[in-house]
Amino acid sequence: MTGRPPRRCGIVHTAAEIAAIREAARATAWVRDGLCGMVQPGMTTLDLDRMAGELIRQTGGRSAFLGYHGFPGQVCISVNDEVVHGIGRADRVLQPGDLVSLDVGVRLGIGVGDTAATVCAGGAPGPLQERLLLVTSESLAAGIGAARAGRDVCEIGCAVERVVKAAGFRVVRDFVGHGCGTELHEPPEVPNFAMKPRGPVLKPGMVLAIEPMVNIGTERVTVDPGDRWTVRTADGGLSAHFEHLVLITEQEAEILTCPKTPAFE
Ligand code: MG
Repeated sequence: MTGRPPRRCGIVHTAAEIAAIREAARATAWVRDGLCGMVQPGMTTLDLDRMAGELIRQTGGRSAFLGYHGFPGQVCISVNDEVVHGIGRADRVLQPGDLVSLDVGVRLGIGVGDTAATVCAGGAPGPLQERLLLVTSESLAAGIGAARAGRDVCEIGCAVERVVKAAGFRVVRDFVGHGCGTELHEPPEVPNFAMKPRGPVLKPGMVLAIEPMVNIGTERVTVDPGDRWTVRTADGGLSAHFEHLVLITEQEAEILTCPKTPAFE
């Protein structure tokens, strides 16, 4: 989930906090991957939300999103032109070829994990969908590569934006990544674009949720006036969202929400 943390420097977490965040992140990735594997045409997004709730329960944690500023779902489920913060609905039936963005947050003990991935419902994505998924995940990888101690936060956004621009797509500017760890949204903000000021210098022990939201058309987005949550592209074009939680170290950043996580069953 994206958000606006307070404008302060990043938080350097203690070793005990990092141990807890690591466990929460592992649980979050496990739920994300389990849920991604369940996406099928014909199911509703409310079905998916209920499955997410069951997976989260199996980790021993609880949803970090449910009730957050009144958010009503276990996870965020955003389809096609929905960018982020979509809510599971009984009347939203997934169609073959739909792009489904799944954003998962789990609180486990004092730790919080936050991660997202976009998948295609039912079989192989079309060429445009496939390119959007590839570019968005590559932009996340570039952002993670730039997240090194001694650099400033801006370098993450510069790296993300470079990949997206080169592909002819656009990064969303109204929503950004964020620090995370013992709260869902901690400082600093982590934009997916070049910014001024350039943000705080990264230090080992900081934990960041890096999460490019990439549109095939305009970068402009609107918020649903009815539910006040669902963010859509202003032109109705497709959008994708990938997010990893990373720990800043003395060397390259460690991805805490890696795909291969042991089972919680
Ligand atoms: Mg997030």
